[in-house]
Amino acid sequence: MTPNSLTDCDLHVHLAGSFYADDLLAIGAPIFREVDWNARGFLDGYNAALNTTLNPVQLFAEALENPKIGFPKFKAAYVLSAEDGGDFDKFLWKYRFFTQLWGFGWERDRETAVAMITQAVEHHKRQGVRYVEYRSGFWGEGAELRRKMQICTETLAAECDEQFTARYIVPLPRDDPWPMYQAVRQLLTEQPHLAQTLVGLDFATYEEGQPPKLFRNIFHQIHRDNAANPAQQLPIVYHVGETFFDKSLESAVRWCHEAALLGAKRLGHCIALGLDPAMAVGRRPQAHEAELVSERLDQIAYDLRFAKGLRQTGVTVDEQQLRAEQQSLVKMVEGDVVERPYTPQRLQEIRQRQDFVLHQLTQLGTVIECCPTSNLRIGGVPDAAHHPVHKLLASPVNLCLCTDDPGTFDITLASEIEWVVQHTSFNHNTFAQRLGNPRRFAL
Ligand SMILES: [Zn+2]
Repeated sequence: MTPNSLTDCDLHVHLAGSFYADDLLAIGAPIFREVDWNARGFLDGYNAALNTTLNPVQLFAEALENPKIGFPKFKAAYVLSAEDGGDFDKFLWKYRFFTQLWGFGWERDRETAVAMITQAVEHHKRQGVRYVEYRSGFWGEGAELRRKMQICTETLAAECDEQFTARYIVPLPRDDPWPMYQAVRQLLTEQPHLAQTLVGLDFATYEEGQPPKLFRNIFHQIHRDNAANPAQQLPIVYHVGETFFDKSLESAVRWCHEAALLGAKRLGHCIALGLDPAMAVGRRPQAHEAELVSERLDQIAYDLRFAKGLRQTGVTVDEQQLRAEQQSLVKMVEGDVVERPYTPQRLQEIRQRQDFVLHQLTQLGTVIECCPTSNLRIGGVPDAAHHPVHKLLASPVNLCLCTDDPGTFDITLASEIEWVVQHTSFNHNTFAQRLGNPRRFAL
């Protein structure tokens, strides 16, 4: 392991979140007057979420003509800072400040698309990062969708040399993952050379309301297809346990385990496994007290299945009582909600459930991708002292440190590592020892 191995490998990066304010300015400079900033309700949405009146054309013009005054204003309008923190809606609209340009560039021509990707990758190279797995979803269908993914893959491949490796992961939308998955397989069949760069699949976008069990069939299909195509392996990474106000904390912890049991190789975030339950329920009135009856039933089935291991970790599993609850719940209508307030004992047992799942993940070899700043700014983590990273680090689970959306947050992999060193008892050496070389978790 080289001393720099932690700062030169980023395994959780969204391509469209990799553009820093100066990249946005450079990309936008030739085209900002042509972009329809009203498209898809961008200006209205941005202004409502940020309580402001955004004038993108004026911001670009001023930043280009008078950078000393104009650039800080431009940057403030784009970067999701600590002051904006905790608000996913603000994040989304600031992120869309870039994606308005990104969408325009992709529709314009191949050269513009290639130039945009190159801009982000070159920025990573200048930072000394040497291995990045980029995630980027595309829109459209059929040949048009495959064309975009092919351009992205080939542009990333062209950026690779002895000093730098870029890989591409395709995110599958949770509300309908099949068409995107089929498009990826078709693309690899038509263009087998892309398989060297296009190396995996992600499940991203809204997590709430989309339990891992919904994806059992597609996971099985992907595993089968991987077995049948040794030269075109598509392992799966999976965002989970990041936003989980739709359910109990037991269920949020369980979802992380279920995603791993389905065969996800790495899990994005898993805040639910590291955030203290007392802190989690304190984030909103009645937080995590209500969930769908289906979730409670799934939880009971899970507790019965893992009764032995849960008990060994100190969790009470009263099988008779669980079966009685099961009997009464199955009479309820789908869509009904059960409410269960928290007691100190229940909160304590959730801590033990977190330990249980962290040990299960360790045995499965599953990796957690921890993104400190992202969790603070958009993951509902209240402060550094209560960051999930503390519990994750104290556990034996495989862990890597990543940036998620480095440009949108104006952070770097190196600054994330500094954050950990500053806010935990680890120093650079002990932290590097705890994590080991992250490249062993590359797809
Ligand atoms: Zn992410």
